[in-house]
Amino acid sequence: MTTAKGKILIIEDEVAIAEIVVDYLKRDGFETDHRVDGSDVQSLITTDRFALILLDVMLPGADGFELCRAIRQVSAIPIIMMTARVEEIDRLIGLELGADDYICKPFSPREVVARVKAVLRRHVPQDPLKQAGNTPLEIDHDSFIVRLHGKKIDLTPSEFKLVAALGAKPGRVWSRAQLLDVFSGEKDVFDRTIDSHVKNARKKIAQAFPELDLIQSVYGIGYRLEV
Ligand code: CA
Repeated sequence: MTTAKGKILIIEDEVAIAEIVVDYLKRDGFETDHRVDGSDVQSLITTDRFALILLDVMLPGADGFELCRAIRQVSAIPIIMMTARVEEIDRLIGLELGADDYICKPFSPREVVARVKAVLRRHVPQDPLKQAGNTPLEIDHDSFIVRLHGKKIDLTPSEFKLVAALGAKPGRVWSRAQLLDVFSGEKDVFDRTIDSHVKNARKKIAQAFPELDLIQSVYGIGYRLEV
């Protein structure tokens, strides 16, 4: 069961802080799920429907930086990062992790709830088609299938990863270096590999929809996906 306001995932190792935030969010009509680390966040967000993630930076295991990147590889879900150090916010913004907002601790729980609502307000109207289950671009992470206007596009796993990363934030410009992160841990992936995956994915999309310019080059920077 989900309420109209949606479910908020809180990843915060300081239980006392998390409990206060959970309490205030619940009072405001949100559902919540609290985790003390992000060990299973990728599977968590693909199996459960969350409206937003509140993500602490300093965590045991993978920190908020790594987790934000990992989440963005599979989802465009709104993320608010929480940090105890105000100077860290500049660094966070500079890293272009794809977070939607940042909150500095200590914060008032009221402020957190207000920020959550503000980010959700910004987020929802951008994607009315998705809300209706009628988005032109569907990315199915379970089956590694991309559908455009209902038509399946046969992509290799590498091409899928690229399209999924770009499609997580339509309109956002990704540098080749950021796209290389998608392949972190894989050998022999270079800037030119990214270009060739993009070229091949484009070719396949063009075969199905010749008039569609889905993956666009941004001169001197990288790529963006525009639905
Ligand atoms: Ca912490």
